[in-house]
Amino acid sequence: MQPPLTTKKLAKLYPHLTVEQRLEMEEWHRGWIHNIMIGQATGEEYKAAMPPYPEEVRSRKPKKCPKCGANSVVEIIGGYPGPELLELEKQGKLILGGCCHDPGPDASWECTNCHQQIWKTGWDAEISF
Ligand SMILES: [Zn+2]
Repeated sequence: MQPPLTTKKLAKLYPHLTVEQRLEMEEWHRGWIHNIMIGQATGEEYKAAMPPYPEEVRSRKPKKCPKCGANSVVEIIGGYPGPELLELEKQGKLILGGCCHDPGPDASWECTNCHQQIWKTGWDAEISF
């Protein structure tokens, strides 16, 4: 059995959720993992299951904004930008995340229309059966 995740780790996995919601997600996942381990569920069922808070975390850049539906989700680029990137940002083709932000989790994409941020995190990266 995996040890419970720390609050910090949960914050990285679910940057868009409140602390209570993160714990709820953690319990949901642990419940599934437990059931798989005792043979009551399969990994496929787990993957297909709907978590309590599925929103705004995607494994890929969504075509449309999950919030406003606009076709204007662009990548957030970290690091120190060169002139080409600055120009692309002006054109609304990407968003620059800045070079010196907090160690906290960064969103991967943002809607240029409503500024909804989308994170590329998930349990797939953390857990392997
Ligand atoms: Zn939007």
